[in-house]
Amino acid sequence: MIFYNPSGAPELACNYCGCRWYDRLTNTCYECGEEVSEEDIAEYQAALEEFYARTGIRP
Ligand SMILES: [Zn+2]
Repeated sequence: MIFYNPSGAPELACNYCGCRWYDRLTNTCYECGEEVSEEDIAEYQAALEEFYARTGIRP
């Protein structure tokens, strides 16, 4: 699932426990160990691109 923080930036969170931390090397949640799917990551990347386009911020 995707959360939006107060500044409007998307944050990827676990579909199972809702925690916002996952291991980017293995794509698993730190909290519950469930896998973060490629689809979720793609969705997050798209949301992030949209955020960058909207705000003009790019890291
Ligand atoms: Zn989790």
